[in-house]
Amino acid sequence: MKKRIITVIALSLLLCISLASCKRNENDEKVDKVENKTSEANHSDNDTSQLITETQHKSDFALNTIINITLFEAPKFGEEDWQQTMDVLRNVESTMSAHTATSLVSEINNNAGIKPVQVSDDLYEVIKMAKNIAEETNGAFDPTVGALTKLWQIGTDEEHVPSPEEIDNGLSKVDYKKIILDDAKKTVFLEEEGMSIDLGGIAKGYSADKSFDYLSNKGVKKAILDFGGNISLIGSKDEENSWRVGIRKPDRNTAELIVYAAVSGKDESVVSSGDYERFFEEDGKFYHHIISPYTGYPTDNEIRGASVILPSSMQADAYATALMVMGKEKAIAFIEDKGLETCLIFDDMSSYSTFDEKRKFEILE
Ligand code: ADP
Ligand code: MG
Repeated sequence: MKKRIITVIALSLLLCISLASCKRNENDEKVDKVENKTSEANHSDNDTSQLITETQHKSDFALNTIINITLFEAPKFGEEDWQQTMDVLRNVESTMSAHTATSLVSEINNNAGIKPVQVSDDLYEVIKMAKNIAEETNGAFDPTVGALTKLWQIGTDEEHVPSPEEIDNGLSKVDYKKIILDDAKKTVFLEEEGMSIDLGGIAKGYSADKSFDYLSNKGVKKAILDFGGNISLIGSKDEENSWRVGIRKPDRNTAELIVYAAVSGKDESVVSSGDYERFFEEDGKFYHHIISPYTGYPTDNEIRGASVILPSSMQADAYATALMVMGKEKAIAFIEDKGLETCLIFDDMSSYSTFDEKRKFEILE
C-alpha cells in the first residue's frame, strides 16, 4: 500500500473569522464539494419522466447538522420529492437520537438492566454494526459511550466538565460487550442499569446510506449528499472524472472552512471526523465531542482529523471516529491492517494517507 507522509507548513494568519458563516477560499475551485458547502438555487416543478442536468439543490437542518443535497443528473424534483427525501433522514433521526425521549434508542436506554427492547430492522442493523466495529477497534469506537456523552453534553447549552467521580462512574457503564443482541427476536438489551447507547458516531452515516439508496432508486444518476462531515457521492462527475472532495483543515480557531486536501471518489462516501466540529472552552482548555471510552475525556492525542473513504458511509463514519480515539501509532497500525483508504491530519498539520494514485490525493494548504 502506498503511504505518504507530508509536512505542511502551518498557515499564516487567517484574515477573516466569521462564526456565523463559512467563507470560501481560493482552493474552492479545485474541488466539487467541501463538507457543508453549497448554495445553488432550489427548483420545485415536478416531472419525473426524464433526467435533467440542471443543478437541483436542497438545504435543510436534520441530524443536528446542515444537510445539503445537490442533484446534477436526476429526474426533476418537486416539493414532494424533496419532502420524501428529507423524511428518509428524519425517520432515522427520530428512531436513533438518544436526545429524543420518545425514540427507540431512548427506550433501550430506559430499560438498561431491566429488559430487552424489540426494535426496528433499521435500528437493529445499526446497533449490530456499531457493536461489530467496537469489537474490531477494541472499544475505541463504543456505542455505549452514551454514559459519558450524557455527562459532557457537548453541543448543548448544558455542556460542562463533569467531576472526576462522575467520569469514573460513567466509565464503569461503558462496555459494548454488555449489549446483548437477539437476531431472531430483534431485541437489544443493555445488561447494566445506567448504560446508555449513543449512535451519534454512526447514525449520520447510516442516514447518508439510506438517502443514497433512496435517491438512486428514484433514478438519480449524479449527486453529492453532504451531511456535515459525511459526503456521499452518487455516480461520478462525468465519464473521465470522479468527484473531487475537499477535506477540511482541522482548525478549531476559526469557523472559516479551509480546504486542506482534495481527493477523488465516485459511488462511495468520504467521511471526516475532527475535534473542530463541536467543542467548548473552559478555563482555557478545549473539550470536544469525541470521547475516549478509555479515559472518559475528549480524545487528547496528535490526531486532529481523520477521513475515511468506503462504499458504506455508516462504516466509514464509525471508523473515522475510532481513528480519532486511537491516536497516531495505533491508528496507523489499524489502517494498515484493514487496508483502509484514509487520511489522518496531525497537530502540526502534517498528514498520513493511504490513498492510491486513482484518488489523486493532493494537499492544498
Ligand atoms: P460528527 O458527528 O461531528 O460527524 P463523529 O462522527 O466523529 O462526528 O461522531 C461524534 C459523535 O459520536 C459524538 O457527538 C457522540 O455522539 C459519539 N461519540 C463520541 N465519542 C465516541 C466514541 N468513542 N465511540 C462512539 N461514538 C462516540
Ligand atoms: Mg463518526
